[in-house]
Amino acid sequence: MTGIEWTEATWNPVTGCDRVSAGCDHCYALTMAKRLKAMGAEKYQNDGDPRTSGPGFGVTMHPAALEIPRRWRTPKVVFVNSMSDLFHARVPESFITEVFEVIDSTPQHTYQVLTKRALRACRLADRLAWPPNLWMGVSVEDQNTLDRARHLLEIPAAVRFLSCEPLLGSVDLSAVANNGTGGIGWVIAGGESGPAARPIRPEWARALRDQCGAAGIPFFFKQWGGRTPKQNGRHLDGVIWNQYPVRQR
Ligand code: SF4
Repeated sequence: MTGIEWTEATWNPVTGCDRVSAGCDHCYALTMAKRLKAMGAEKYQNDGDPRTSGPGFGVTMHPAALEIPRRWRTPKVVFVNSMSDLFHARVPESFITEVFEVIDSTPQHTYQVLTKRALRACRLADRLAWPPNLWMGVSVEDQNTLDRARHLLEIPAAVRFLSCEPLLGSVDLSAVANNGTGGIGWVIAGGESGPAARPIRPEWARALRDQCGAAGIPFFFKQWGGRTPKQNGRHLDGVIWNQYPVRQR
């Protein structure tokens, strides 16, 4: 298990990132990279800009890691770049293309790519070949970041999803959920966890659940958050929301 509820494996052909919005304030990967650097982990020796990144968290490509999914014998749901953002400006387009080629050539696995750089993903979309086993998601933590969903809708991915986690404010999906182009295929929501977790309000989670219900979008409520991810469980009004998109393969 990876500790991430909705996936079965992580794959990090890139590590390192820079904070771009309020959702990044308590970035787990940034904290983790610092620890991994101190432990001497090979992939985490490049430092990032101290203002936006940190020790061990400089954006670094790992070509050797490209082969890893080919070695997995059992089919997996793979979260790509849990320790980075594939569409960070410093990840060359040629490397993103290589990542996509690995995804395409391992159709036994389903890959989830999640970005906060939706504009770059959208700008590159026409130049990339989108494999049918790639689910593309953007983080939307509040109404201000909903633009990312608009960019997502221009990307021809097999499944397009929103990760509303950590949810920091209410999100009204009406501007993007029913645009008639196939729209959003999945919404994940959850609160923040960790020592300084910012609390999620139940009405924000309920509103997302209800909007998804009305639009026929599968909804997954991951956790309330708190000091630890499990502290407050994951029941929303007594129900565990574990819906997934219909698998394409
Ligand atoms: S985009 Fe993701 S990986 Fe990068 S700093 Fe923000 S939360 Fe961390």
